Parts: sequence; C-alpha cells; structure tokens
Amino acid sequence: MKGFAMLKIGETGWITKDTPACGPLDAICKPLALAPCTSDVHTVWAGAIGDRRDMILGHEAVGEVVEVGSLVRDFKVGDKVLVSAITPDWSSFAAQENYAMHSGGMLSGWKFSNFKDGVFGEYFHVNDADGNLALLPEGMDLGAACMVSDMVPTGFHGAELADIQYGDNVAVIGIGPVGLMGVAAAAIRGAANIYAVGSRKNCADLALEFGATKIVNYREGDIIEQILDLNHGPVDKIIIAGGDNDTFDQAIRMLKPGGKIGNVNYLGEGDYVKIPRVEWGCGMGHKYIAGGLMPGGRARSEKLARLVTANRIHPEKLITHTFHGLENVEPALMLMKDKPKDLIKPLVIID
Ligand code: NDP
Ligand code: ZN
Repeated sequence: MKGFAMLKIGETGWITKDTPACGPLDAICKPLALAPCTSDVHTVWAGAIGDRRDMILGHEAVGEVVEVGSLVRDFKVGDKVLVSAITPDWSSFAAQENYAMHSGGMLSGWKFSNFKDGVFGEYFHVNDADGNLALLPEGMDLGAACMVSDMVPTGFHGAELADIQYGDNVAVIGIGPVGLMGVAAAAIRGAANIYAVGSRKNCADLALEFGATKIVNYREGDIIEQILDLNHGPVDKIIIAGGDNDTFDQAIRMLKPGGKIGNVNYLGEGDYVKIPRVEWGCGMGHKYIAGGLMPGGRARSEKLARLVTANRIHPEKLITHTFHGLENVEPALMLMKDKPKDLIKPLVIID
C-alpha cells in the first residue's frame, strides 16, 4: 500500500509498505476522511519528538473497517467509524489509574505517526479496536466526524485541565482549531467571560460564534495588559492552545491565586518553559499548571459526537479547505505548515 510519510526530520514523501497485520484485538481500516494536524508539522519540521524514518504521518481520520481481529466484539467489516487520534491500551495499568494516554510510557497512547504508521495511507492499523473506535453516527458530516478524532477532544481536554466551572472568567490563548474547540468547551461548561487570543480574522469570527465574549489580538499589544484591563483583574482559568515557551509566563501573570491553567499546546522547541517566580507566589501562589495529551478512546469519541448530533457544537465550521483523494494529503499538510491567513483546518475526503 502507499502512504504519505515523514522520511526524516524536515523531509516528507510517498512510500510503499506492506498492509498492516491485524492482531486479535485490532482492526484494519481504510480512510474515508483525513485531516493533517499542527502536531504533524511539529513532528516533521521541528523534529519535536526526535527522528522518525519512513513513518506514515497523520492521526486524524474517519474510517471504514476492512478487517477485525478474532477477539473484537463490537465492530465488523464494513462499519464506518470515528477513529480516536490517541489510541491507548485500555487494559493497561496507566488506564486503570486514569492516565490511559500514557499507557506504555509517557505520551505512548499517541501511537499513530509517533510509534507506528499513521492514517495517511491506503490502510491503517487500530490497536484495541473495541476501546478506540466508535460507530460513525448516521448522517454525520465527515468533516465534523474527522474533527472528533483530535480537535474536539483536545480543545475539550484543555477545558477539563483548566477545570472550568460555571461563572469563571476564562482566557483561551490560541484560537486555531484546537483553541476554538477550547472556546466551545469553556462556553458549554458555563464560563462567564471568555477572552480569546489570536490574530486571524476568520478564527476570531468563529471564536465569537463559539462563545468568546472578547477577542484579544496578541500582535497589537501585550496580552497581559489587554486581558487584565478587560477583566478588571486576573482571570480564574486559562486554556493554552497556542503560543510558545514564554506563554506560561504570560498566563501566570494574568491568573488569580487558586487559578488553573490547562495546556494542550505541543511545545515543539526549546529546553525550558518560563514560570515567573514572584507572580507564581514565590512557589506558594496556588496557581496550578496542568498540561496534557488528550485521553482518546471510544467513550470520549461517542460523547463528543453526541454533542455534534445534538447540535451543541459545530466542529465542521473549522474546515476551511476541502480536498478529494488520498494524494491530496500532501498539499493539505503543506497548507498546515504554511498556515495561510484564511486557513483554519483542511480536510481530505477519500472518495
Ligand atoms: P494553530 O497554529 O492553528 O493555532 C495556534 C494559535 O495560537 C493561533 O490562534 C495563533 O494565532 C496563536 N498564537 C500563535 N503565537 C501566539 C503568541 N505568541 N501568543 C498568543 N497566541 C499565539 O494550532 P492548532 O490549533 O492546530 O493546535 C494548537 C496546538 O495544539 C499545537 O501545538 C498542536 O500541536 C497542539 N495539539 C495538542 C494535542 C494534545 O493532545 N495535547 C493534540 C492536537 C494538537 P494566529 O494564527 O491567529 O496569529
Ligand atoms: Zn492532531
């Protein structure tokens, strides 16, 4: 089969590989829709997780099952499925301790395009199929379904990590597709004011539609000053879904004692993040920082898909560019790398 791969750090190309083998608990799927992710860009061009050779990229997909292992209970050949970008081993010790995403070692629930070939091929392998697939709801838009793979669960995980409660004043730093779903999650969890930080107009417009109450443009001035001013003081909670290693410094400075930061941003470069000592209460300010890989798995996919079918969230609105045919994962990924101003998220439909 052919697939679009990371050949080495900084280089991509098409390669040919054997179709993956199906173990007793696994499924083999063919893609119906695919999306490239900013994480693919960090992986290839920043070398953020180290070198990978001839590894098929991609972890966001909707699929059709073409083979199931002998022990798979709930899925059969021909089922159309939501595929979680993070596919933990659900019987692992880590999963039993509620950190399934780290089953097998830190970040090891992230298998596609990290520890094994990803979804940008004619076929892909899903481990623990009963735990990691979910049936595609009847009539669901393929774009929305593909966003349930990663963008929706990651944005929502940012809101979980920040522990957003009703009435909270919240800043969401970064409103690309992940941060936009963070805005939607904050709104659903009952945030009062939501300050969304970004600069692209289409992202800002969608943030307002998803529940942001004010847009803060980081290119037009210091975001700490802007947010402290709009909020008349520090905020309760912060989701970080963009920025760089200095963003924690800014977040700590605009957060209340007892406030919480939920980071889902993938820090692709540098050795350290900055925490300002005094504003962090000299280590005693009760300003919490949690950073997490989204948990993945079937229950989460089913529940988030339910929010889509109930018309409570509209992740299909993230899709600004649609391609057709597997060969177009290449230009779609290049769009993600170049981030033109009108891009939020590209989608590739495999007709
Ligand atoms: P985008 O690049 O599309 O969005 C990044 C956002 O951050 C944009 O709104 C951008 O603004 C904003 N931004 C950039 N620089 C700054 C800055 N200095 N200060 C404030 N805001 C800034 O990324 P995605 O939404 O696709 O992904 C967000 C992150 O989430 C990525 O790092 C991705 O790898 C990671 N991720 C993490 C996962 C997890 O499980 N934890 C899973 C999936 C993704 P603008 O472009 O408007 O100028
Ligand atoms: Zn992703």
